[in-house]
Amino acid sequence: MAARLCPHCNVVSNFSSHSSTSGQWGDGASRRQLTAMSMLCHNCGGIIMSFTEQNERGHHSEWKTFPSSIPRVDETVPAKVSQDYVSAVNCASIGEFKAAATMFRRCLQQIMLDKSAKGNTLNDQIKDLEARQIITADLKDWAHEIRLWGNEGAHPSDDGLDELTSEEVEVIQDFLERLFDYIYIMPAKVASSRANRDTRRS
Ligand SMILES: [Zn+2]
Repeated sequence: MAARLCPHCNVVSNFSSHSSTSGQWGDGASRRQLTAMSMLCHNCGGIIMSFTEQNERGHHSEWKTFPSSIPRVDETVPAKVSQDYVSAVNCASIGEFKAAATMFRRCLQQIMLDKSAKGNTLNDQIKDLEARQIITADLKDWAHEIRLWGNEGAHPSDDGLDELTSEEVEVIQDFLERLFDYIYIMPAKVASSRANRDTRRS
């Protein structure tokens, strides 16, 4: 039994392993000898699959776990926005970083549609949101970062920037989550806090 962070309940809890199967994964030079193990979280009953690989010395090391994380989005974020966010995080979790950056950019476009941003390009729409004070100058900069990294993911080029790293994608994700906070989550919290105060007064 080993303690680890559960992607289902987000708690560090004990897991027990219930069955394991060894076999091949992939072919040619990329072929691996893996052991797949189903594991049960003692806190929430969630299951995960852990794949371990054996090296020449016979030591097992974890290769991949499914799911490694389950993206969660606050319910105040509109469904179309959160759906693209979840797709992007899922892409990142399996190492598809270009696809992730492209989906984060698409998620940003969903925010523009949700806020009826004017302009034919994402660049113009971001400017419009700043002009209408829906986002601040800082947030405008973050939005442009998401847009530009998303372009790297979406368009093949010969400038060597085609490959994105997990760290770069994490930064894009962070910018987007801060936009969620500012545009959707915090305004909803303020409204709820005000309503709560009004109820206490009356
Ligand atoms: Zn759990």
